[in-house]
Amino acid sequence: MPIKDNLHNIKSSLPENVTLVAVSKTKPVADLMEAYEAGQRIFGENKIQEMTDKWEQMPKDIEWHMIGHVQTNKVKYMAPFVSLVHGVDSLKLLKEINKQAKKNERVINCLLQMHIAEEETKFGMDEQELHTLLNSDEFKQLDNIKVAGLMGMATFTDNQEQVKKEFTQLKTIFDTYANKPLTDNCQLSTLSMGMSGDYTLAIACGSTMVRIGSSIFGSR
Ligand SMILES: *Cc1c(COP(=O)(O)O)cnc(C)c1O
Repeated sequence: MPIKDNLHNIKSSLPENVTLVAVSKTKPVADLMEAYEAGQRIFGENKIQEMTDKWEQMPKDIEWHMIGHVQTNKVKYMAPFVSLVHGVDSLKLLKEINKQAKKNERVINCLLQMHIAEEETKFGMDEQELHTLLNSDEFKQLDNIKVAGLMGMATFTDNQEQVKKEFTQLKTIFDTYANKPLTDNCQLSTLSMGMSGDYTLAIACGSTMVRIGSSIFGSR
């Protein structure tokens, strides 16, 4: 099916409070433009260089989300324009984002990535690390970032019960902190979970932001 039809089908199936990030990694600008023409304004990429190239070529009313693992030495390239960084999992990275945001005289929104999957390879923090980070004095001093929520990826498996358990676990952690003003730079309102294969389940478990690639743009 054409990209615009995929997009419309998915959009019409999403509840009103759920935001769609169209994950366009590895896809050419022409494909992204097709989604843009169909009304999509939020795109997710997992490589900073690729996202920057696309940002340069595309209309400027697009919100660019970095959904991949971020290397501290590359933060400076996206700092002028990125709207949301999903995969933040250390104070060190937050400090670098804060520093580069300050240079660009802006505030960069971030989500903290939680480790919920069984696989050891997936990045993210556990609950204790989250607690420590949010309560540290160093964190409270970061004026050029805003932590707007949490992000997580479930185990890649056909076992729906397993995936449901992991999403529910993330939602429980989210609810512990959500919608309470913790510090000036932190108010959790976004829960980013769900991809092409599991977004319906993620929404049922409380997701407010889904990151969908292959179901819109085709397989990679
Ligand atoms: C690639 C990717 C997605 C989208 O995956 P699809 O299965 O193509 O929908 C979502 N989130 C992250 C972090 C990704 O890297």
